[in-house]
Amino acid sequence: MNIITNEKIWLSSPHMGGTEQHYINEAFDSNWIAPLGPNVQGFEKAIEDFVSNDIHAACLSSGTGAIHLALKLLGVGSGDEVLCQSFTFSASANPITYLGAKPIFIDSELDTWNICPILLEEAIIEKVNSGKRPKAIIAVHLYGMPYMANEIMNISKKYGIPVIEDSAEALGSSYGGVKCGSLGDIGILSFNGNKIITTSGGGALLTKDAKTKEKAIFLATQARDEAAHYQHSEIGYNYRMSNVLAGIGRGQMEVLEDRVASRRANFAYYKKHLLHLEAIDFLDEVEGSFSNRWLSCILTPSFKVRERIRIALSEENIESRPLWKPMHLQPVFKKAASFTNGVSQSLFERGLCLPSGSNLSTDDLERVCEIIINELK
Ligand SMILES: *Cc1c(COP(=O)(O)O)cnc(C)c1O
Repeated sequence: MNIITNEKIWLSSPHMGGTEQHYINEAFDSNWIAPLGPNVQGFEKAIEDFVSNDIHAACLSSGTGAIHLALKLLGVGSGDEVLCQSFTFSASANPITYLGAKPIFIDSELDTWNICPILLEEAIIEKVNSGKRPKAIIAVHLYGMPYMANEIMNISKKYGIPVIEDSAEALGSSYGGVKCGSLGDIGILSFNGNKIITTSGGGALLTKDAKTKEKAIFLATQARDEAAHYQHSEIGYNYRMSNVLAGIGRGQMEVLEDRVASRRANFAYYKKHLLHLEAIDFLDEVEGSFSNRWLSCILTPSFKVRERIRIALSEENIESRPLWKPMHLQPVFKKAASFTNGVSQSLFERGLCLPSGSNLSTDDLERVCEIIINELK
């Protein structure tokens, strides 16, 4: 191929399926322009049918809001401690601080890049011995790759600490045949603009307990007591999803399986065309795990090589992104406790997310690969 085009290639851009506007029009025609209505119910039903496993879904205004409510529902409050995967996007950890609680960051293992069970248990033992049991564990399926759910659930049960499953990047992934979002005590999803499906902005809280869903919606709609007048016995939030945006979500659910297939095909393409390069490596799925490959990531031998590739792509108008900077290395969390092993820092320094949208063409993928191959020649 000769690279004559310089058209922008985005990291992960929205990809509409076609029926979204139909649902939005329905909302307009019936005047359901509110944070409730048939699209919200319809979107929740579609999520519940897809994730299955007895899940109840509450659609919210963001994934961050969903994590905030999940922590609140698990009783996290001022002065409590919450164990949180360090290698993640900041929205996994920020809500801990909204409640006046403190994060304890846990580094990753090398097989899935997610929360390391050994370090997690070490942290719990140390905390329990010092007389303070952490209130919750936040584990993340980063880039769509499922974390070691069996090991994490065993630790959770052994010490009686519930798991919030941050599935913001992992709708469509599964572990042992069970869909991500239904593996923890409370699951959360995100429908932000760059996620595998999007409502432009939005999220959901997933639970196996109908009462927990009811409580989540109660808190998300300003915690009104049952009374004709406006009476409140608890502090509430304004976190419910708009019925207009839920219409986008209903349309997106119809193409979710296609989106997963396209993202996985991107990953397979990159692997096929780049794995022969000495400087490029990929993360494979462990047995029983199925990743939606939300973002295709490569690992290089060093920060220098990573940066060379990133800059070469950028010069050709192609967006790529270093892997998430771990929370224990973030200025805002410099005082937070952490249990580290160097894994996430090394991944951050050496890793790069390549363009991964489900709407990329084969020409786009070829252009990306050609630039990387040329740069490493
Ligand atoms: C996107 C994301 C969130 C937050 O979701 P929003 O809907 O953007 O608030 C949380 N955790 C992870 C890992 C994410 O990637």
